[in-house]
Amino acid sequence: MIPAAFDYERAETVEQAVDLLGRHEDAKLLAGGHSLLPLMRLRLARPSFIVDIDRVAGLDYVKEVSTGLEIGALTRMAVLARNETLWKQCPLLAYVCGQVGDPQVRHRATIGGSVAHGDPASDPPTALLTLDAEFVVRGPSGERTIPASTFFKSVFETDLGVQDVLTAVRVPKLGAGAGWSYQKFHRRAIDWAIVGVAAIVERSNGHVGKVAVGLTNMGSTPLRAGAVERALASKEASPESLRAAAEHAPEGTSPVSDTNASSEYRSELSKVLVRRALEEALTR
Ligand SMILES: Cc1cc2nc3c(=O)[nH]c(=O)nc-3n(C[C@H](O)[C@H](O)[C@H](O)COP(=O)(O)OP(=O)(O)OC[C@H]3O[C@@H](n4cnc5c(N)ncnc54)[C@H](O)[C@@H]3O)c2cc1C
Repeated sequence: MIPAAFDYERAETVEQAVDLLGRHEDAKLLAGGHSLLPLMRLRLARPSFIVDIDRVAGLDYVKEVSTGLEIGALTRMAVLARNETLWKQCPLLAYVCGQVGDPQVRHRATIGGSVAHGDPASDPPTALLTLDAEFVVRGPSGERTIPASTFFKSVFETDLGVQDVLTAVRVPKLGAGAGWSYQKFHRRAIDWAIVGVAAIVERSNGHVGKVAVGLTNMGSTPLRAGAVERALASKEASPESLRAAAEHAPEGTSPVSDTNASSEYRSELSKVLVRRALEEALTR
């Protein structure tokens, strides 16, 4: 289908984008366009004004900062999936960006667009939630930082206001003792996750130290599997304790039923994927 009529302006700077969003009712930012344009073609989104930020300079980078790494919002998935610094300091995110769609999608989709879109089936938001990432946002009253833990509100709903531009994502570096895994279950390589699981596990003296587990497509937002984390913390890193902890995966979730899988199937699948993710994380 053809999108409904809209006006269009290209912003050269973040400030100009914030200003344009404020001057036009029902305006939307356009970055890589790989989520917004399909919605517009289906007329599920009908913005009357598009602010194109795709060529705003200076938002495409990965750099080390005091708290870890900072990634510019317009950095493409394909760039992140092969970025050496990211692979060295935060391999979970580099790997997950390489699991998004296909090469064509990854060469257009931006990390900022993936976060701002707020799709619970997206892979990078789950990795970012598991990593305790922070999002840097510029709006009419200046800059603020929002933790991933409070950013995602519901399906396609985030903490971003109508005039806000997400400018960067900050992630901590993974410590030397931290293993990681992302398990994505899908039928074809290009597909979104039926369920996805991110895990970061630290091992100390044969026991599990810090553990973080995130879930993709198990509710209206990316979720942390808190019950799994609590069940595993300080336990012996044995196959039995991993298996027992993984049984808690569906607690506190509300997966949808759709043409790919029923809610019950997703709940069972989450247990299997959490166990696999924990096992892999402990071997890395
Ligand atoms: C065929 C196909 C397969 C895909 N498969 C996967 C997959 O397997 N896993 C996965 O995770 N994703 C998948 N995607 C989604 C893809 O990763 C999205 O394009 C990406 O998540 C959104 O980024 P974008 O730059 O294209 O954003 P856009 O489509 O440009 O924007 C998306 C939304 O975010 C807003 N926005 C964009 N940038 C900003 C910003 N800087 N600040 C504030 N708001 C902003 C826009 O206004 C819009 O509402 C797939 C997409 C396609 C088309």
